[in-house]
Amino acid sequence: MDNLGPEITEPVKKAISRIFGFPAPVIPIIENIDFALDSGRNQYHSTSVLQQLEQSAPSFAIKVIAITKVDLFIPILTHVYGEAQLGGKACVVSTCRLRDHITAPNPDIVFIQRIVKEAVHELGHTFSLRHCREHACIMHYCRTGLDVDRKSDQLCRYCRILLDDELKKLNRDHPEKSR
Ligand SMILES: [Zn+2]
Ligand SMILES: [Zn+2]
Repeated sequence: MDNLGPEITEPVKKAISRIFGFPAPVIPIIENIDFALDSGRNQYHSTSVLQQLEQSAPSFAIKVIAITKVDLFIPILTHVYGEAQLGGKACVVSTCRLRDHITAPNPDIVFIQRIVKEAVHELGHTFSLRHCREHACIMHYCRTGLDVDRKSDQLCRYCRILLDDELKKLNRDHPEKSR
């Protein structure tokens, strides 16, 4: 989480331990992501960030999430709010576009709620969760900030069961990393 204040990192940490049951220490892993810059688009390629994150993750980490202010893209899309390795170790979220189109009276609160939801969403992918058709589910795919506002900060019952299965597997395979 690059140079983000506790007003962002604290709610993200809380949500991660609430949903996944793991502590989420904030550690600087990548100092500089210029390697991912596409100078033609003036945006950062999220897949390169994921590769670097995976390589740089501390060995004790079960998963690693980066939160960045820069604008991320994958080649087929104009931008992404984030990207994750499905069933892998790394994911990344960009706060860059999550401030767009906020009409609520407390834009800062909405902004942080969106970051929290997208962070949990991307981490969910690293635990093998796919996009969910349930509109209120945090694993629902959102194209706009308003879509993000409409979903809840919870997994639906179906995704919760899938996640619990995944967590059980993890505890069986890596008992030393269990909560
Ligand atoms: Zn997704
Ligand atoms: Zn779901």
